[in-house]
Amino acid sequence: MKERQTIIYIMSNERSGSTLIENILSKSPQIVSVGETYLLGGYIHKVGPGFSWDWNCSCGNSLMECNFWNKIYRHLNISDPREIKNTKIIYPKRKDKDDQKSKNEEVLSLMNRIYAAVFEITNCSIVVDSSKKAFHGTSLYQNSPYNFKFIYLKRDLRAVTFSKQKWRKRYGAKDISLIKLLIANYLHRLWCMFMLRKVDKKDVFNLNYEDFFENPQQTLDDMSNFFGFDSYEMPEFMELVDDHTIAGTPNRFEKRRIKYDAGWLSTAKKRPLINALGLILNKIG
Ligand SMILES: [Zn+2]
Repeated sequence: MKERQTIIYIMSNERSGSTLIENILSKSPQIVSVGETYLLGGYIHKVGPGFSWDWNCSCGNSLMECNFWNKIYRHLNISDPREIKNTKIIYPKRKDKDDQKSKNEEVLSLMNRIYAAVFEITNCSIVVDSSKKAFHGTSLYQNSPYNFKFIYLKRDLRAVTFSKQKWRKRYGAKDISLIKLLIANYLHRLWCMFMLRKVDKKDVFNLNYEDFFENPQQTLDDMSNFFGFDSYEMPEFMELVDDHTIAGTPNRFEKRRIKYDAGWLSTAKKRPLINALGLILNKIG
């Protein structure tokens, strides 16, 4: 039945609305979202991103104690979740190419077993993985036993840049100039496009964050046609309801009305040069 079971992998930059899209999709009874499985190993061992909510599952429990994830471990025949260490498929660098390739093979097989376990315990026909990473996603896509599809989610580069800077400040991260951030975000787009060359066009749903807010219901209906789930009414709120997702935006724990966040526009007005360059880069990539 694997051909009928679908993975929707969200590929995007940070701060581009992937948690929102994942949350909206999870409201379908046919769909389960597991969040950023790429970070599962980090969450179990409490390292890497996730520090500010103690690497907990979105249900509030740790990845050692969450009921949902414990069912998954049992399906994988793992007695101690800490046996799961590496869940990242990383682009092999020249000097340790073979070593990295064999590590990647192990992660690939683990991820497919995790997907199988999720289908098994939820009875859903679609799993959403919002790992975002382009190489990780396209590696899973190649030779996937599932009907593997992408949402390639793009957001205005200026919005991504200002939003990243806001969160970097909040978390006391190292100062990076806006121009560097903007260019890094543009290069990220090029990287995604380069990686997507390995993917059949018919397997990619291109989603523009701004277009989505023009007509959310229409976009959701388009996704239902594309991915083959029954259409449903666009939810009014982004909220966690019995969800067991890994990572996502720091905002996700509170119930929020779904609306376009235009907060960055006033910041952009004060930075005309970044604003103008962002507009140009938006157009060319
Ligand atoms: Zn949980």
